[in-house]
Amino acid sequence: MTRRPRKTLSFLTAPMTFLLLASGMLLSVLVLGCAQTQSGRTTPVVTDEGTMGSNDVSQTGQVADAEGATMPLDRSVYLVEMRTDPVDEPGLSSGAYASEVIENPAGSSTDSVDARVDRLLARMSLEQKVGQMTQLELGMVTDGEVYPESIDPEKLRRIVREHHVGSILNVVSAAFPVEHWHTLIRSIQNEAMASDLGIPVLYGIDAVHGANYTQEAVLFPQSQGMAATWNLALAETAAAITARDVRSSGIPWNFAPVLDVGRDPRWPRLYESPSEDAYLTTVMGLAAIRGMQGDDLSDPDHVATCLKHFIGYSGSDSGRDRTPAHIPDIELRQTYLPPFRAGVDAGAASIMVNSGEVNGVPVHASKHLLTDLLRGELGFDGVIVTDWLDIKKLVSLHRVAETEREATRMALRAGIDMSMVPSDVSFIEHTLDLVRSGEVSEARIDASARRILRVKMKLGLFENPLTGLQAAEAIGTDEDRQVALQAARESITLLRNENGLLPLSNDQRVLVTGPTAHSMQSLNNGWTYTWQGGGASQEMFHDGRPTVMEAIRKRIGADQMTYVPGATLKTADRMDEAVAAARLADVAVVALGEGAYAETAGNIRDLMLPEAQRTLLQQIAATGTPVVLVLLQGRPRTLGATHEAADAVLAGSNPGPEGGQAIMDVLYGNVNPSGHLPYTYPSTPTGYATYDHKPSERLASDFGMEGAEPLFAFGDGMSYTSFAYRDLQVTPATISASDVRDGDTIRVEVTIQNTGDRAGKDVAQLYVSDRVATVTPAARRLKRFAKVDLEPGEGRRLTFTLSRDDLSFIGRDGAAVVEPGTFQIRIEDQRRDLEVTGERFEVPPAP
Ligand code: BGC
Repeated sequence: MTRRPRKTLSFLTAPMTFLLLASGMLLSVLVLGCAQTQSGRTTPVVTDEGTMGSNDVSQTGQVADAEGATMPLDRSVYLVEMRTDPVDEPGLSSGAYASEVIENPAGSSTDSVDARVDRLLARMSLEQKVGQMTQLELGMVTDGEVYPESIDPEKLRRIVREHHVGSILNVVSAAFPVEHWHTLIRSIQNEAMASDLGIPVLYGIDAVHGANYTQEAVLFPQSQGMAATWNLALAETAAAITARDVRSSGIPWNFAPVLDVGRDPRWPRLYESPSEDAYLTTVMGLAAIRGMQGDDLSDPDHVATCLKHFIGYSGSDSGRDRTPAHIPDIELRQTYLPPFRAGVDAGAASIMVNSGEVNGVPVHASKHLLTDLLRGELGFDGVIVTDWLDIKKLVSLHRVAETEREATRMALRAGIDMSMVPSDVSFIEHTLDLVRSGEVSEARIDASARRILRVKMKLGLFENPLTGLQAAEAIGTDEDRQVALQAARESITLLRNENGLLPLSNDQRVLVTGPTAHSMQSLNNGWTYTWQGGGASQEMFHDGRPTVMEAIRKRIGADQMTYVPGATLKTADRMDEAVAAARLADVAVVALGEGAYAETAGNIRDLMLPEAQRTLLQQIAATGTPVVLVLLQGRPRTLGATHEAADAVLAGSNPGPEGGQAIMDVLYGNVNPSGHLPYTYPSTPTGYATYDHKPSERLASDFGMEGAEPLFAFGDGMSYTSFAYRDLQVTPATISASDVRDGDTIRVEVTIQNTGDRAGKDVAQLYVSDRVATVTPAARRLKRFAKVDLEPGEGRRLTFTLSRDDLSFIGRDGAAVVEPGTFQIRIEDQRRDLEVTGERFEVPPAP
């Protein structure tokens, strides 16, 4: 098997890339044209597992920057003025928000669309229909040799006119300026519209934290950081800006949001997934779908979403990317399915399949998961697209098929509509052959082509395949930047603050040290201008976005601050100097964590933060100077006993380019922190348990119940003010199961008050614990939340409504059931029991 590797700019030296940015595209074309001979192609190797090169397994063979990269020290940066007004007053219950989104699903009415699609289908040849089901990477129609890639007219003609390819996906060396996007997309759509039937191409891209492949766009926190805000209105606004920027670049389809529930801190895509919790993932996903799709896909501000990766991707046994998962049906339905179910109900246009295997069957070959569950039970009628190369991997990696022809038959039988092939036309050849030999019916092809054409029609591409281009001047405005800044600020999570060390004051002398203190890569992680977030991305960060160190220096002046790296991500780097500087400082800000990575390149052998970083923390603390630990990382790397060295801890996840300022704002009290952990921060690299663990998961070696104590718990997050909760009321306190079954609801009220002396936001989190159940119950499960903004002294009464779904769990036979008994309702320190009397019942499936 051969494939074109994704090109990378990482071989460029810094001066060359500077030249590229400084001298305009013409010169850059020349410079890069010379350098392109160093391509990253790898030679296939034969192993017991089969024949593969790293390019066949990963997207590109591109690897993450092992050491991360710090910024040049002499950058000039400025900080944007802080605005105090919030982007939007968040709705006061996540439940009300979710119902609103689901009751008003996106997408225009399908009746007229369906009739048009059927008329078009009737005119299409088999070849044209199969072409619609084919997705190729951009490199298949470009010159492939230079940055920024440009169209090769002859290749484009062949792909679109001869092979009738219906979709192209983004694989670019690095983000393009919007004008370049326009040139590319215009050429592609002009070719498509001039073809026989004039069917527009559906271009898809991974814009996962803003339009991260459009140079001018603002970028937001990665999904995990966005979830740490617990602010649904903000998440929706960020998604809407992303959609507008993507559409304005000429692209109508976004491979987002990621709805994998990230249960394992080792998993390299944890930062792409909102949370370890199914509910938080679900509502954050709904906010993203609402923001991106709006209520009309043909609107120039909106794009079609692609929920990914269906299903079980994040549940691998090893914690490594694309390795086998074993997920019992109960667990699959309890934890991994709800976000997808809700996303389907909210009208998501497409879904991408998990590259890996679940219970011994690659999901791309699983009729049970794709057709019976997703199509049948969830009622999904949008497009199912494969992930990268995944039909081929049924042969080369998973070995469930002897030949690609057989693999294609399997995937079609399983239920895929579109193959992300992505670098040849083999899918077309095999599919045509399968239909001609009678092994696959033409009706099966029609069904997939129909779904794809329907999305194109709903997007308005037939009327105008370039919808949105005219809005390009709206990309990257200061207003958008304020939203990104607010999101970054609200994502920063204060986890410890001994002796009121924070906020700092301007007159304190500060040492800033650690590998993530001066790194845009650590603030942003992967999918940032480049796939891995390394290489060329470093030069693309916009002027004026400070790193943590730069933001502090700007605030207190270079005389008050010393910066010494102290360590790279893995090795000491002038550590003695950092320690000496700590002795002279009033406080040390030690920024640790990870660099940038995406997918398989982010696999780790050990969850423990590398030793050099822990040593730096310990040695700085040993000077007696108080330490603020800032963590910038895509997953919670464990700290061992060294966490004790920190007097204050700020978790930054990956807050995006505005994160440096956001962290400074929190350090100095410009902003009162309001982030809350969307995951459990484990204390040890093994034996950790998510917050919704089973009781027995906490058994300790001394037979006590403290066996899996986290370092910081799910939902934790402190403020510079204090909040008190009182008067939790559950009405009724006793309810019969039959009333619950028939739709009666339970009202939960609580009063929250800001008891401190500054304004602040808290997240009221409502948990339910089923005390006794026939499937071992979770310790607690998050059911609702509200982010509330309160002035000093201000109080507010919050109301939440619970219904039968909130009391149900997946029973032994795989169906959702409610069993009578005691349910504890808990908000912060308030607890009340709800008694459900009568008989157990099965929750009827949604109509
Ligand atoms: C990833 C997907 C992504 C696709 C297209 C795959 O390697 O798993 O999340 O959408 O590439 O870039």
